[in-house]
Amino acid sequence: MSGGSLDGKTALVTGASRGIGAAIARRLAREGAAVALTYNSSAGHAEKVVEDIVSEGGRAVALKADAADAEAVRAAVTGTVEAFGGLDILVNNAGGGTMKPIGDLTLDDFDREVAVNIRAVWVATQEALRHMGDGGRIISIGSVFADRIPMANGTTYTLTKAAVAGFTRALARELGPRAITVNTVQPGPVATDANPADGEFAELMTRLTPVGRYAAPEELTGLIVYLAGPESAYVTGATLNIDGGYAV
Ligand code: NDP
Repeated sequence: MSGGSLDGKTALVTGASRGIGAAIARRLAREGAAVALTYNSSAGHAEKVVEDIVSEGGRAVALKADAADAEAVRAAVTGTVEAFGGLDILVNNAGGGTMKPIGDLTLDDFDREVAVNIRAVWVATQEALRHMGDGGRIISIGSVFADRIPMANGTTYTLTKAAVAGFTRALARELGPRAITVNTVQPGPVATDANPADGEFAELMTRLTPVGRYAAPEELTGLIVYLAGPESAYVTGATLNIDGGYAV
């Protein structure tokens, strides 16, 4: 693939065997980036994403790395550098949450969600910055729930996604001099295995979203390409909602 806005760039997308991450990995590859993607349990899905990218003429590699395991996350970053000779774009996407009343959550539940949704973002970013040159791009997938949560039982998830947006703002201050941008993308309802368009929350989420429907994962990828590319050099520290108007 050539002639794309990300020709010659290398990217790591965490949690990209399925859902939003897989759509981002496919799109970055179409724009010309060599893409490493991590997965935890869905090896077959991850390999399929790689095969599809390669069959379209792109470069991709799948790396197993549980986001709850800091050493595995670091190894995924160094594995990307070894595979492609550098790292220009990090997309922190791996994440998820359990919707339960606070009283039903254990400390282990809390620690795991914090490890995946916050610590892995911090670890991957720290390791990536050891390899990333000036002009690099760090994009983290937060959630519009950090701004507006319309139902009960999302305390830990919401806490973690608000933390990602705060981390992004603070890091933008640090990396401005290196021309590395850091941004958070906060999706609204997106149809994936984690949040099916006919799932438990669908009726409420659809009703609260002005455009009146879930997004397909592919609808997020144009914004990611923009943030990953050369035209967004003056966008940093931002929290960008892509939510069908849900947060208004
Ligand atoms: P899915 O559950 O559909 O997919 C999650 C992806 O992340 C899979 O590829 C999965 O890989 C991977 N993953 C999950 N846990 C881990 C882990 N511990 N280590 C490594 N990889 C992991 O989720 P979505 O695509 O819906 O969500 C992606 C991101 O978008 C998340 O951060 C989520 O919080 C955020 N988001 C989603 C919204 C939605 O409506 N869908 C709305 C707002 C934010 P594997 O199968 O191998 O475990």
